[in-house]
Amino acid sequence: MSTRCTGRSPVSHPDAPAAAGAPPGMRRRADGPSRLLDIYRALDERYRDDVWHWMPDVARGPFDVIAGAILVQHTAWDNAERALDALRAAGALDPAELLARPLDEIEQLVRVSGMPRMKAARLRAVAATIAAVGGLDALLALPAAELRERLLATRGIGPETADAIVLYAAGRPAFVIDAYTRRTFGRLGLRPDDEGYDGWQRMFVDGLGEAGSVELYQRFHGHIVLHAKDVCRATPRCAPCPLLARCVDGRARIDEAAAR
Ligand code: SF4
Repeated sequence: MSTRCTGRSPVSHPDAPAAAGAPPGMRRRADGPSRLLDIYRALDERYRDDVWHWMPDVARGPFDVIAGAILVQHTAWDNAERALDALRAAGALDPAELLARPLDEIEQLVRVSGMPRMKAARLRAVAATIAAVGGLDALLALPAAELRERLLATRGIGPETADAIVLYAAGRPAFVIDAYTRRTFGRLGLRPDDEGYDGWQRMFVDGLGEAGSVELYQRFHGHIVLHAKDVCRATPRCAPCPLLARCVDGRARIDEAAAR
């Protein structure tokens, strides 16, 4: 069973847990914000003390976030972090350095993250975007929509990478949609009619409404990634999942296992 979000309509699900104040034994239909916030709170309960590498109190600075968002493409964060360490140790984790150094030197430094030629070129491209607007501070000070447009016009930066930079490097509201988000919320029975990137993003932005602060977007996305890596994996571990009572797919899997 799936509940679809239609464009700007609120997200809703008839099987959401009973809202506070509902009579005992009776489920009350929860509106979109309450269901998304209910899921957020359950994840926050589980993951609030875990480290998420892009939170402002953990990340080393905005350019680390930008370079990391490129280096993590098509690989695990550990590999991206090792490439960041190599760039930092060589004094190359800086837009001006990335433009000044030979491309093959950058390729060697980022090799550990895979696809070194492509990633070196993408780092060089984002450094050129930064230089074109007068530096990193000037780029991050652009209005959020213009910042996103400039990032999207940069070679190798798509919506997910652009929104990660807008949200975590610039501290502006942009809900990041990734494969973990699609997998987890698809299983939870929440998916938009338009399953393109923009449709998924609109479901979260509209569904969270005024509750959707920058900090909530950052924490929610971080929690989703941690949850999808640890619990809602390709083969999910539903029994210990804090979202089981809210999950269409998880309950079906548990029932199926019990019936075997
Ligand atoms: S109950 Fe299972 S399928 Fe549902 S969110 Fe949790 S781990 Fe994923």
